[in-house]
Amino acid sequence: MAILAVPLLLLTGFSAPAVAVISPTGRLPTAPTTFHTYASLVSELQNLSRAHPSLLTVTSIGSSWETTQGLANRSLFAAEVRVPGGTKKDVLFMGLHHAEEWISLEVVVYLLRYVLLNAGNDSRVDAILARANLWFVPLVNPDGLEYARLNDSTWRKNRRDNGDGTFGVDLNRNYGYMWGDGGFGASTSDREYRGTGPFSEPESQAIRDFALAHPPVLSLSYHSAGQWILYPWSYTRLPTPDDDRLSNFAVEMADANGYQVLQEGRATHVNPGNSDDWLYATLGAAPFTFEVGLDFNSQNANSIGAVVRNNVEPALRGSEMALGLRNWRFDMGRVTPAALIAVAAVGAVSSVYFVHRWRRVRRDNSALRTP
Ligand SMILES: [Zn+2]
Repeated sequence: MAILAVPLLLLTGFSAPAVAVISPTGRLPTAPTTFHTYASLVSELQNLSRAHPSLLTVTSIGSSWETTQGLANRSLFAAEVRVPGGTKKDVLFMGLHHAEEWISLEVVVYLLRYVLLNAGNDSRVDAILARANLWFVPLVNPDGLEYARLNDSTWRKNRRDNGDGTFGVDLNRNYGYMWGDGGFGASTSDREYRGTGPFSEPESQAIRDFALAHPPVLSLSYHSAGQWILYPWSYTRLPTPDDDRLSNFAVEMADANGYQVLQEGRATHVNPGNSDDWLYATLGAAPFTFEVGLDFNSQNANSIGAVVRNNVEPALRGSEMALGLRNWRFDMGRVTPAALIAVAAVGAVSSVYFVHRWRRVRRDNSALRTP
């Protein structure tokens, strides 16, 4: 009876609960129904800075590879939301390292619009802005986006001419911590080609120089897809010394959007040279990669609204934890009564079973000693 009850409880009491997406407290902006282009992003950032001159500053933090070759005129833009008063920390949101992951840009632009809409109207946004300047870099790979839009929707890398008939470096394998570890990504034709050296690409250089000038306490880098929240290390399966903190951050954010949580190095293969490892190792940031998207299609315009809305609350929670506004340690307040009852019931039934077993084993042994 007791033996039957344990698996029964495991099946019923511990079946995965339906994940409820948690909405933020502030007003939600209208979500776009089509994806941005480079040009439409530039004009949207200009319009937003005109509409919020005291809150928002848009600057160029670097140029793309094609621009450095005189082939295009594209910048990497950082939109900074800042309110007056005191020394503040920095929080960074990045999108579209990878050219085909269009939804990742939309999440960052929507977050920016959420903050602008709610600044002065929502206590959580105001508490975050009182402690930090928020930086939004929605488009790390502008050449790649334009190439993916106009030529090849599966394109991933930037558009560097590798000089051997191949093009492109994977910007998220080009960062300078453990770059190319184990010989990773050495082939120019590889979709994950690491480049000729650490930070060989103007786009990753721009992020490096920006982050060194404004070291973020939290960095959320949006990719797509699969509904994961990932944290360092990426170059190895071994945990960082801050595994407890980073994994708890990830779980607290994932509780708001239902994503799964994983250390990056425990994905299908290790990924040396990504932004998270460098930000963590060099600056001590708490960096996370979000693999956003309802499915594995990063270019499904019908899903933009749901994806961008579902990722506001996790970003707020991450910011709050990094700024000391929210507890990231295990919190009994988050344990539901149903889960407590289930744990207690399993504990009680298991105890009865194990005591019973212990007594049987002891009796059997006694019997054996006196045959
Ligand atoms: Zn990606």
